[in-house]
Amino acid sequence: MSNKLVLVLNCGSSSLKFAVINANNGDEIISGLAECFNLPDARMKWNISGKKDAAHLPPNSAHAEAISYIVEEIIKNEQGLAEQFVAVGHRVVHGGEKFTESVVITPDVCKSIKECASLAPLHNPAAIMGIKAARAAFPELPQVAVFDTAFHQTMPASAFLYALPYHLYKEKGIRRYGMHGTSHLFVSREAARLLDKPLAETNVITAHLGNGGSVCAVKNGKCVDTSMGMTPLAGLVMGTRCGDIDPSIIEHLVAREGYSPAGVMDILQKQSGLLGISGVSSDFRDIQSACEKGNEQAILARDIFCYRLAKYIAGYAVPLGRIDALVFTGGIGENSAMVRDKVLNLLSVFGYQVDSEKNETTILGKKGTITTENSPTAMVIPTNEEWVIAQDSASLVSA
Ligand code: ADP
Repeated sequence: MSNKLVLVLNCGSSSLKFAVINANNGDEIISGLAECFNLPDARMKWNISGKKDAAHLPPNSAHAEAISYIVEEIIKNEQGLAEQFVAVGHRVVHGGEKFTESVVITPDVCKSIKECASLAPLHNPAAIMGIKAARAAFPELPQVAVFDTAFHQTMPASAFLYALPYHLYKEKGIRRYGMHGTSHLFVSREAARLLDKPLAETNVITAHLGNGGSVCAVKNGKCVDTSMGMTPLAGLVMGTRCGDIDPSIIEHLVAREGYSPAGVMDILQKQSGLLGISGVSSDFRDIQSACEKGNEQAILARDIFCYRLAKYIAGYAVPLGRIDALVFTGGIGENSAMVRDKVLNLLSVFGYQVDSEKNETTILGKKGTITTENSPTAMVIPTNEEWVIAQDSASLVSA
């Protein structure tokens, strides 16, 4: 089978992750990160077949400069590589209700991505910049958009509607959209494979726990509920985001405590979560080592994180009825035996029993079951969003 290489671009507001992936088998030929856009020390680091390298970008570089560096200085130096590209695949955060699956990018698609930008003001404009720059660099290659929200478009209205006046949904699009869809899709498919069941008959709860985090209830292979909302601020306790709170707290802080609305949003998005509770860090590795040293606020942050997660998971028994597996993924889910142990213990009403040895050793990219034989199944599956983007891109362009 000939290689089907896809250049995968994930454009954030101030950074860009990139990878060259073989869509046939998920092999990563290049991966890298350009960061500090629009700052004097804009820079890039990358990895080619295990070999690391780094460079400064011209001061104040952004998406276009980064993509031209990737093409001219990295890809062109690898003989014959660009000739094997079949598409450029873009991660796009918000597809609104318009996009229920990945699409080949046309001028109309670009227009719709821009229209969804009010729902993701930091991310969708960055994706558009990436699409323009990639089109200039590879005018002959098809470009594909893969949406973080698309997998969640199968949620029923009972799960996606807020109890707000209905016209706010109909006229303004205010509803739950959910994020991390590509990751939830990937690990739910992998879980069905590990369970040796057809995806269309598999019910799983997937917990993607990275710097951001979300849980998803997947019934017969389709999303029926998820914890993020109209934006990524809702749901779980995250690195710096608060997740669910009483919305009146915002009014209280503005009207009675003298905060500005923008200042409150900054608190909810950047100063809360693990960082806000612990005062230590937003990074779970730091929280874990502070817990081991007996730091009480770090212990509190960890416990609130696990408790909120366990409550969400238990709640998803409602739409699923039967849970074939609970899946942990993302940096914390794939590596923190401590979190998995605590969460499964909080869920003992379901009968979960952790196999300590399997739990401790299923880390660093390993996958497998971490519960005992008599327990309901919980497993760890490393996510691979880039591979899904490459697969969708390759299959759309060959169709
Ligand atoms: P992102 O959302 O940026 O893609 P990741 O999926 O890479 O995030 O996850 C980052 C989180 O995973 C951080 O909180 C980090 O501390 C945590 N993490 C990474 N490795 C470990 C580890 N060995 N043990 C515990 N947590 C880890």
